[in-house]
Amino acid sequence: MPEIITRAEAKTRGLKHYFTGKPCKRGHVCERTVSCGSCCICAIEYSREFRALNPEKIRERDRKHYAQNRKRLCEYSKQYMKKWRKLNPERARNISRKRWQNEEYREKTRARNRAYYQAHRKELYEKSNKARKVRELKIRALILAMESLGIEI
Ligand SMILES: [Zn+2]
Repeated sequence: MPEIITRAEAKTRGLKHYFTGKPCKRGHVCERTVSCGSCCICAIEYSREFRALNPEKIRERDRKHYAQNRKRLCEYSKQYMKKWRKLNPERARNISRKRWQNEEYREKTRARNRAYYQAHRKELYEKSNKARKVRELKIRALILAMESLGIEI
């Protein structure tokens, strides 16, 4: 059982919930929210009822929420997937293998990669060029170092 505490007390402590120990008007004995005083189970039931009665409103709200937070949500799911793949490497491999068997997916991915390449060709070319130059410099330095040590290659 949670600690019995008044709404005012919970508010001064900065808590989000309080518990009176008394049942709500629907007979639930559970914590209530400080912000509106409704019981937690009632709040869930209300929102479920509201969802059932106003499917378009909910869809609209979800759509708006998604549009406003698209970047953050995408980033979150990307990070989550990354973590999941690390924790489940075998399953992740199976999923991508199965996905790759789908011809439509294969075509889409190839098209996307092609488009990306076309859009970033210059950048990609410069990047690989730079990497090649760095590699060459490293090899040259290595050769010089070996020569100075008298090592024949
Ligand atoms: Zn209730």
